[in-house]
Amino acid sequence: MKVSFLDLKAPYLELKEELDAAYQRVMESGWYILGQEVEAFEQEFAVYCETKYCIGVGNGLESLHLILRAMKIGAGDEVIVPANTYIATWLAVSYAGAIPVPVEPDRNTYNIDPNKIEAAITSKTKAIIAVHLYGQPADMDFINEIASRHNIKVIEDAAQAHGALYKGRRVGGLADVAGFSFYPGKNLGAFGDGGAVTTNNRQLADKIRLLHNYGSRSKYYNEVKGFNSRLDELQAAFLRVKLNKLDEWNERRKQIAKYYLKELQEYTDLKLPYVAEFSESVWHLFVISSPQRDKLKRYLDTVEVSTLIHYPIPPHLSDAYAENLGTNWQINSYPITQMISSQILSLPISPHLNKTEIQIVVEILLEVFKHDII
Ligand SMILES: *Cc1c(COP(=O)(O)O)cnc(C)c1O
Repeated sequence: MKVSFLDLKAPYLELKEELDAAYQRVMESGWYILGQEVEAFEQEFAVYCETKYCIGVGNGLESLHLILRAMKIGAGDEVIVPANTYIATWLAVSYAGAIPVPVEPDRNTYNIDPNKIEAAITSKTKAIIAVHLYGQPADMDFINEIASRHNIKVIEDAAQAHGALYKGRRVGGLADVAGFSFYPGKNLGAFGDGGAVTTNNRQLADKIRLLHNYGSRSKYYNEVKGFNSRLDELQAAFLRVKLNKLDEWNERRKQIAKYYLKELQEYTDLKLPYVAEFSESVWHLFVISSPQRDKLKRYLDTVEVSTLIHYPIPPHLSDAYAENLGTNWQINSYPITQMISSQILSLPISPHLNKTEIQIVVEILLEVFKHDII
């Protein structure tokens, strides 16, 4: 039996009636941009994230870009980013005209290593973007403490961690401000693009609200050169339906992770995901690691268990940043990140996997190690 990595239609089928009703509600309203659905979703998501403010935006990358713009971070400034992240975190910094300064991850959590941040801070550093990678919150108290000592801002990239907890508190309200993505495959995903900014800082919320809609508070009066990056009314209506399910679906992910951890611990040589004691992951991804990764992936492909690599090329080695290679960093500047990218493999962990599918993944992996298949 084939195990697919992610079935994007499954959430629609589970919530078809409510989603179809949401679609009809929007279509019949005759109002398609910045209407009641976006407003209601913003309120509901702010409550969910335990923050005062939420602003819907076009996508996750834009959420981070607008945050940096609102903080007036741009040309000549440096922003500390994880070396080990999805490239969008870096691109937001580049969009704003600032320079991403990578910091290596912790070998176990794969999140930015706070012990290495201070060495990367210069007189040009304006902010740190902490990514809650694979659904696990970064060590925010440690990061906030460093930032406050150096008088720099902290931004959460929470694109992979909707609902995750750090010392019992939700991501989204753990720093100055946070960016979220609602790309369909995320824990809270739309049926198209979408994103949001959450914060407790009223001034910052105001600025982002201004910037995301042409720099205009009232129609045709433009206070600043803004952008067009709005959460779509239809997507907001869908997201309201899915937000009601988020905790339940995150719980299913946790159950799958628990099962994988228990079964794979004893009988395989795989390095399994490690969650720090202060974090509660929402398991956006279940990432194992092995020096034999490529062979393992090829074998799993032949038995139709689909896996993915998040991410095969670290941003500092990506062609997109070729111009910085040799000046801002060297090929071997981030060996931990490079090692991780060559050994990691993501197993299927969607809330819509059934028990049989999960058992198949485990059985096949146990077979691999029992019979030295790779
Ligand atoms: C998905 C993602 C983004 C970007 O979100 P989009 O909605 O695709 O623009 C940013 N950062 C991280 C860590 C992500 O996983």
